[in-house]
This record gives sequence, C-alpha cells and structure tokens, in this order.
Amino acid sequence: MNLVTQVYETSKLQPGKTAYHFMGKDTSYAELDQSVSMFASALQGLGIEKGDHIALLLGNTPHFLISLYATMRIGATAIPINPIYSPDEISYILHNSDAKAVIALDQLLPLVEKAAPLFPSVEHYIICEMSADIGERVAALPDKAKAKVKLFSKLITTGRPDLEPIEVDENETAVILYTSGTTGRPKGAMLTHKNLYSNARDVADYLGFSEHDRVVATLPVFHVFALTVVVNAPLLKGATIVLVPRFSPSDVFETIKEQKATVFAGVPTMYNFLYQFPDGDPADFNTIRLAISGGASLPVALLHNFEDKFNVRISEGYGLSEASPVTCFNPLDRERVPGSIGTNIINVVNKVVDEYGDEVSVGEVGELVVQGPNVMKGYYKMPEETAAAIRDGWLYTGDLARQDENGYFYIVDRKKDMIIVGGYNVYPREVEEVLFTHDDIVEAAVIGVPDPDFGEEVQAFVVLKKGAVADAEKLKAFCANRLAKYKVPKTIEFLDELPKNTTGKILRRSLKDQVRQ
Ligand code: AMP
Repeated sequence: MNLVTQVYETSKLQPGKTAYHFMGKDTSYAELDQSVSMFASALQGLGIEKGDHIALLLGNTPHFLISLYATMRIGATAIPINPIYSPDEISYILHNSDAKAVIALDQLLPLVEKAAPLFPSVEHYIICEMSADIGERVAALPDKAKAKVKLFSKLITTGRPDLEPIEVDENETAVILYTSGTTGRPKGAMLTHKNLYSNARDVADYLGFSEHDRVVATLPVFHVFALTVVVNAPLLKGATIVLVPRFSPSDVFETIKEQKATVFAGVPTMYNFLYQFPDGDPADFNTIRLAISGGASLPVALLHNFEDKFNVRISEGYGLSEASPVTCFNPLDRERVPGSIGTNIINVVNKVVDEYGDEVSVGEVGELVVQGPNVMKGYYKMPEETAAAIRDGWLYTGDLARQDENGYFYIVDRKKDMIIVGGYNVYPREVEEVLFTHDDIVEAAVIGVPDPDFGEEVQAFVVLKKGAVADAEKLKAFCANRLAKYKVPKTIEFLDELPKNTTGKILRRSLKDQVRQ
C-alpha cells in the first residue's frame, strides 16, 4: 500500500464524496482524481519521469493537492518549499535538490524571472494563476524565461483523465522536506513512500480519522505536520479537507461553523491567537471532536484556558520532519496528560537515552530517539549528517525528554536551547510555562545570554495583553515565587510580538541574534 494509489482508489469507491472544500466550492474524489491524472500526464508530456524532482512553492490551495498527488502518480519526487522563503533560501533548495521543474504561486513570477537563467537544470516553471492578469505578465517576460514558463490551468488541459498510478518501490523517495535541523544550512529529509504512507495511516488510526471527518487545513501544507495530519491522513480515510488559505482567527471560526468541521489541527501560537480573539464564541468549536496541537510545546496554561473557553479537548502530539513526522500523541481512549506529548503511536517506538545511547530510568532527562517505519531514509546528498542523525537504527531527535511510569513522554526542550547558569541546567520551556500562567502575558520566550559570572543568564521576552502595564520587577517576583532562584530571568524585555517562522515556531535564535547585536 502507498499514497500513490490512494486518491485513485477512493475515487473508485466513493466518487461523489467531497475530497476538499476550497473558497465556497466542493470538489469530489472523482474530480480530484481526474485533475491529478490530467496534471500527471501533462507533466509526463513535459518529459518529467519517474525519479525526477519537482519543487512545489505553493500554499493551501488545490494546486498543492493536485501537484503532490500528480508527482507521486508518475513516481517523481516532490519537494514542498515554503513560498515565502527569501530568494536566497529558495535558490539554495532548488540547487541542492536538483529540481527539474518548479510549480509556483503566481506571486513568485518575479523570482522565476530571475531564477530562470540561473538554474539551467530547472527545465520548467509551472505558474498557478490566482490573479487575473497573470497571462499578460507571463507574455511580457523576456524570451529566455518565457520559454520555460507554463500556466498550470493551460498545462493541465493537455493531460488525459485516465492515467493509472505508476508502480513504485516503497523505499523510493516520495518527498524531500528541507528542515533546518539543529545546525547549518537546511537539509533535505528524504521521506519514502513507506514513510509517508505508514505515518498517515498510523496517525489516522490512532486518532480515529474516518470518512465522516471534515478536517480544517490551515496549517501551511508545505510543512510536514500539515502534510501528514491534514492532507495525507484525511485523504487516506476518504475524509474531507477544508482548505483555509491563510490562518486568521475569524476565518477559522467561520470555516468551522459553516463547514461543520470535526477536526482542527494547529500549532500553539494558533491556539493562542484563537483564544485571544475577542469575537471568539465558545459555540464556534461545537462541531470539533478532535483538536490537535503539535509543532512546538503547548503551554499548559493555554491548554486549560482554551479548553475551558471552547469546551473542547486538545490532544498534543510530537513529531519532526525526519519522522514523517509523528512519533507520539496523547491517546483518545486513555488519559490525556497536559504538558505531555502522549505515548508511542502505532508501530513507532520512542525512548529516552543518555550520551552513550543507553536508555535512562523513568523520570530522567535524556535525548529522545525514535524507531519505526516513519523514519526517513536519510538527508539528500548528506551522508555524514545522515550518519550523525541515525545511529544504531535510531533517529536522534535533538530534543530532550523524559518518560513517566505510564509511558507518557514529556519534551523538556531542544538540546541546543538548554541554558547553563553557574553549572545548573535551565530549560527555557520551564520558565516560559510559568510566565504563561501570568494573567497579563500573551506570549513568552526565554533564552540564555552570556554572563561574566555565571557563564549564562536567563533572559525573557514577553508580549503583554493590551492595556497591561510593563513592570519587569513584578514579573521577576512572580517567577521567584514559582522557580528556583537561578531560573528567574535576570532581564525581561517587553516586545509587541515575538519573531516566529511560518509554522508558528518562536524563533529563539533570532532573539539571541538581537541580544548579540
Ligand atoms: P519540524 O521538523 O519543523 O517539524 O520540527 C521538529 C521539531 O519541533 C522537534 O524536533 C521539536 O523540537 C519541535 N516539536 C514538535 N512538536 C513538539 C511538541 N509537541 N512539543 C515540543 N516541541 C515540539
């Protein structure tokens, strides 16, 4: 079994069932399958073959679903890239990934114009038109660039509607996902057909996805969390994906109500925005049977506040690009533990090890390592980094964790973010959790900064609620009542917002750069 045949098979079993909803329109599995088939054969018509690499610079529109499944249907490899990356970042990935074709949002046309002469190996740029004048803008391109550019809507009409999925080996690469990992330039995690299929299936089974589900897709689809949880898992179960092109609290609330959505998946910052939104009505989450959080730690205070306001249960899980991504989730049929990432999902084993790779005792902190059919083949063209990440058959996550006596795991923090104050370990998350319980605080992030006496000191950055008065001394006293002295932030800076990446992760690194400067 794999995802290559998935949409094809569902379209035969339930052709009229809605595969996705986008901008007021339902599209059935039969229609999606037809588009996938036509686009896949149109790609073949351009000379794209099994094993070729296709970069997807797309957001949450049907183009992504069609492009991803068409790429898989002909046995090519998809490289989803964040379309708002800087030109430098995109260039690096296009170069490193040996992309032969690029499928991009029309707003990237200026970039395409620049990139066309720089990347001789990219033979085609397929532009997904959203704006009305894109045809004219393409026609006005210089000849060299124009020769390589095609419009998605025109190209798809050259394909045929009955292209059957190609046979693929389960160990062939389906997708390469670029992830920053812990150091250096982004690395391309090669996820095989088996990796993607097994994780979508195991997550869907663990969380009880069914054809009756209507899953809100507002997480960015180029990120692995969305790819498996709100794209592949629902399609695997014949459910309906409700595409929300851009996250905003009002769009999410309206969509859930209008579409009677049953599953919502978000990163903690999304939950925070939804919770803080003044017009959020507790009834807005009435139809949601499952609210999923992942991608970063969900502050316990936020979990409780959100659940109390919206009368919904949030299940937190954990994953990383290299594991396709999910390894742990709070189970639905057993206790849900706030602050925990839950237990092993089906077929996946997590354990906590010391620096020699030996499992530590219950309650002790060590590095989380993972084994299962979801673990990547390796990093593209980076054998040394692959050997460092996968050792003795275990994927080293770079995250510090502990396990309790009931098998629940807790992420303590990222290994590289740990702060050492005069020899004592401080995990930023611990301090952030305390700050989050303060009524005036909307967001908080903690980093280590150099200190001549203690090696490092704790510095906090907070965003206050509107109207709250900034008083660093009072906040320090609040922390001092709840934390050991060496963990209390020595400096507290007040910001209007915290720097985040597009998947909502708070960028502690850019706060560190800010301090350094
Ligand atoms: P990515 O590869 O972009 O999905 O990032 C993976 C990283 O996100 C992990 O290595 C963790 O550091 C972090 N992460 C994901 N889920 C959680 C979670 N529930 N709690 C804490 N950190 C998380």
